Amino acid sequence: MRALVTGGAGFIGSHLIDRLVARGDHVVVLDNLSSGNLAFIQGHLDSGDAVLVNGDLRSLDDVKQAMAMDIDCVYHLAANPDIRLGTRVTDTDLNQGTVATYNVVEAMRLAGVKKIAFASSSVVYGENAPMPTPENHGPCMPISLYGASKQAGEGLISSWVGTFGLQAWIFRFANVVGARGTHGVIFDFIHKLKNDPTRLEVLGNGLQEKSYMEVGDCVDAILHVMATTDEPLNLFNLGSHDTASVRRIAEIVVEVTGCADARIEYTGGDRGWAGDIPRARLAIERMVDSGFDVRMNSEDAIRHTATCLLEEIGLEE
Ligand code: NAD
Repeated sequence: MRALVTGGAGFIGSHLIDRLVARGDHVVVLDNLSSGNLAFIQGHLDSGDAVLVNGDLRSLDDVKQAMAMDIDCVYHLAANPDIRLGTRVTDTDLNQGTVATYNVVEAMRLAGVKKIAFASSSVVYGENAPMPTPENHGPCMPISLYGASKQAGEGLISSWVGTFGLQAWIFRFANVVGARGTHGVIFDFIHKLKNDPTRLEVLGNGLQEKSYMEVGDCVDAILHVMATTDEPLNLFNLGSHDTASVRRIAEIVVEVTGCADARIEYTGGDRGWAGDIPRARLAIERMVDSGFDVRMNSEDAIRHTATCLLEEIGLEE
């Protein structure tokens, strides 16, 4: 199989490429390296198992160039990873999410590529969804600009399925954590403790409670679900069985980093920033019924991630 992975130099994309190469796929990576890191995939580029198209998804011509490389299946992971950015810059998610996804499905139509997997998010459900939230919950009313772009991406893909015969797998991820993480709460906490090991500032009151999935589980779930489902449009939540509070994450990170004397200070309020969803937990029965289950639940995934990132980042200057 020849796979195109958009955002393949990123956190989740690079783990996905490890799995694709291991099973014998040849991978074309389309990435502009805005938040990705070439080092994550350098081994695959050196071995010739993957090639990089250094291009931007906002350009239809760049996407067409990558799509012309005899692709069987697209894994569309590129996006702006910073949900909070939408509170300051209002067109990033529109361009890096909605327009980028349009360019991907349109380039697929033009090149005759039929299969796509899309990295969507639990944030499409918005606030006040029942918890755990099943895939058939609706109406979905996202409250962040990032969430709106994911919902728009889902709509574009679904319409290309209905109109142009694409086959799609849409995955709504919980918070994905693990080695090579370059953003998110655990990454932020380690950087804060590196700057000042005596104090850890936590955005909000720390009672935000979300579900965490280890990245290896996430990419294995993607490949398992794609191998075992065959509807024109397949929609799956991917997450773990439980949740962890930000307070608990702060305690784990303080413990793992050995900064036992750090004062944990909360900025207050029920959420980290406007558009943040304080509580999220996905119903994962559909994933489990497909025959895949996670190896780590939230706390194990957080502890594992803190250990990996501490090694990658280090506390010393
Ligand atoms: P990431 O930032 O590590 O990866 C995104 C990659 O896309 C980067 O390599 C970046 O350089 C590339 N990219 C961004 N804009 C681009 C553009 N215009 N053109 C070409 N390349 C571009 O983020 P990640 O955490 O690996 O996320 C991967 C996907 O999963 C994203 O779509 C994200 O929204 C989604 N997702 C992630 C999480 C999570 O917890 N990490 C949760 C839900 C959904």
